[in-house]
This record gives sequence, structure tokens and C-alpha cells, in this order.
Amino acid sequence: MRSTQVNKKLLKDYQPFVEEEVIESIIELSRELKGLRVLHVNATSFGGGVAEILHTLVPLMKDCGLEVDWKVIDAPPQFFDLTKRMHNALQGKEDFLSEEDKRLFEKVAKDNAAYIGIDEYDVAVLHDPQPVGLPAFANFGNCKLVWRCHIDTSSPNEVFWNYLNTFLSYYDAGIFTLKSYAKDGIAIEKIYDIPPSIDPLSNKNRMLSEEEMKKAMTKLGLVSGRPVIAQVSRFDPWKDPMGVVDAYRQLKRKFPDLQLLLIGSMASDDPEGWKIYEDLLRYIGMDYDVKVLSNFHGIGDIEVNAAQRISKVVLQKSLREGFALTMSEAMWKKTPVIGGNVGGIPLQVHHGVNGYLVESVDETVEYTERILENPDLAKELGRNGYEIVKKHFLCTRHLLQYLELFRDLTR
Ligand code: UDP
Repeated sequence: MRSTQVNKKLLKDYQPFVEEEVIESIIELSRELKGLRVLHVNATSFGGGVAEILHTLVPLMKDCGLEVDWKVIDAPPQFFDLTKRMHNALQGKEDFLSEEDKRLFEKVAKDNAAYIGIDEYDVAVLHDPQPVGLPAFANFGNCKLVWRCHIDTSSPNEVFWNYLNTFLSYYDAGIFTLKSYAKDGIAIEKIYDIPPSIDPLSNKNRMLSEEEMKKAMTKLGLVSGRPVIAQVSRFDPWKDPMGVVDAYRQLKRKFPDLQLLLIGSMASDDPEGWKIYEDLLRYIGMDYDVKVLSNFHGIGDIEVNAAQRISKVVLQKSLREGFALTMSEAMWKKTPVIGGNVGGIPLQVHHGVNGYLVESVDETVEYTERILENPDLAKELGRNGYEIVKKHFLCTRHLLQYLELFRDLTR
């Protein structure tokens, strides 16, 4: 396992965005929990929602006086092929789990478990299926164990679920984005529902200067003055990038100026990304108004931030989805959103209030058209989205819920 370094963040800098009671409650709990030794373990330090959240929560927990480590498991590429299959199967995909798969999964758990010292931590939070097996092989001593599941496991492939569930009996608590994501019969007794959050001060979400916007536009290769719609997601079939292209093609007939931006990072724990990326390029063919970009084109947080700001609509046309941070990110920038009516998207997107929920390409076309044709409506949707994020999906609320959980488990 390798330690991940994080930049410093201070709770006081968040005061302008957050209700006073939230900050006061955090400070009060911090006093109680001062010195608590916390470990977070996940599969990657970059790419995807989990890493995004940990880069904010880890430094904020430190600023609250907790002693926090973030470690990333070491594993060979075949392991990440397996865990990506596991991820898909836990969202319901048909697949077969062989004895060899199990041996590989357990070997990685065992190898990484060797880095855990007895009673080195008071609480350990293991994120998603990749590190879930560690407690079966490590001696955590009296450390309280939490499994944070970021995916919707309510109707999983049974074989994969039953295998995973054998590891869950080691845990003291489970966190899901929604309580209903935890499958009946789960071997963890205490289930908490805590949705993810965004960081209003990160490069991904903070205000950008004119200069920064200009530079980002050049990197994105967009023609200014012409409308843009965008989807920002890993290249993953569940995110349905082809469906977005289909919708764009229909819209293009009515809005010949329209540009489509597909931004997708390649996470080290997501081996499917390259294949989908290549399939997507083939599917698009020659169309200079479609840009498919990734971190390999130098597209980082500031460019994603700019893209979410200049887009007329930000799409997340997922077919399955844990939460979709990309929705809250766009909403924070007062951009109207259209999301698949699945998983955590309806938690954030309220149909007709801050955007629209869709179940098909045709619906995506219909509602995108409505927004593109009505600038006043777009403004109102954008304003409402911002208020929803401010109230429910900022990292301060998330931090408070984690601290409450730590208190429940340790006091
Ligand atoms: N993201 C990014 N660059 C990309 C694609 C995604 O920075 O090219 C970020 C995106 O802004 C969001 C996270 O990765 O913060 C994806 O989180 P989400 O919950 O939407 O999906 P997940 O990848 O966890 O399924």
C-alpha cells in the first residue's frame, strides 16, 4: 500500500459558503474527536469520484485535529480487470466468478493487509470493493471498520454479491449513498446513508478568472460564441457516452452551431476506459464539432471547471450511477443539468426545478432543446441547482456526517 499526499485545506475558508450551525457542529465534534487516528483506503489516488472526495475530506479531517492517513492499495493490472468486472456485476451485469478470480482477489487483500499494524488506527474506512477483503487478513486490533460503498448494490449479480458479503461481516458499519443501495441480507449491522459532496474551493469548482477561462477554452478547442453541451465522465458503458452522441446528432439538425464536449479521465483502476474511448472515437467518426478529451490531452480540473461553466447543458446520461458528482459540480456553476433517472442522480436533479431526468435519447433531445431555446428557463434552472448544492451537497455537510459516524463508533 502506498500513502497518498494531499494539499492542505482549512475549514475556516469554507465559512462563506456554509450555514453557521454546520461549521459550529464540526468544531464541537472536532474537539471531542481530537487525535482520533483514521485510515482511508481505496484503489486510486486520481480519477473518478472517490479520489475526488478524498482529496478534500482527508485534509479537512486533518484540519479538525484528526490524524488521518490515506493509502492506496497495490495490485497487478489483472486485479483491476477483476475489480472492474466486480463493479459491473455489483450493478447487475451477468458474469462468472472463478476460483482463480477469488484467489487473486484474496492474494491482493492479503499482500496489502501486511501493511496494517495492530491498533495503528482507531477507525479505518475502506472504499468500494477493491480493498474490502483487507480485514479478513489484517490484524486491525480494536480499530473500528467502515465499508464505504459508492455503488448501487441493490440488485447485484448474486454470485459476486455473496462473495463480497463474506468479507462484510468484519465491518462495524457500512456507508451507502442511499440506504436502499444496501442489499437485503447484508452482513453489516449498522448502515448509514451519506451522500457524496463537492468542494467549492477546489480547482474543479472555484470561480475562475477571465484569463483562466480563456486559456481553458483554448485547451478545450471550442469555438467561442457557439453553444456547447458536455458530459464529463469516465469512459464507461454505464455512463452511456454513445447515447449522448446520438442525442447530439438529433439536436445538431435543429442547432447546426452546436458543439459537443465529451471529457473522460482515465483512472488507473479502470482498465475498460481505453477500449470505450477508442470505440467512441470510431462511433463519432469525422465531426469537428465533437471534442473527445481526457487527462492525456492535458485536461485537468480547471478545464473541467471551465467546461461545466460554459456549457448550456451538462449531461450525465447514465444507465446506472452511484451518485454522479458531475451533476452537483455543474449545478454549483449554475448550469442546467440533464441526468439519467437512475441511482443518485434524482437525489440531485429535480425534474423541472434545476434540470431534467431522462430515460432515453429522445427525452434527452427534448429537454436539451427546451433549455437551448429558453435562456430565461436556463437561468432559473441554474439558480435552483446552485441552491440545492449549497444546502445538501457541499463537503462541509459530508465532513460533519463522517465526524458524527466516528463519534458513534468510538465513544
Ligand atoms: N472527472 C474529471 N475528469 C474527467 C472525467 C471525470 O475530473 O475527464 C471527475 C468529475 O469531475 C467527477 C469525478 O471525476 O468529479 C467523477 O465522479 P462521478 O461521481 O461523476 O462518477 P464516478 O467516476 O465516481 O463513477
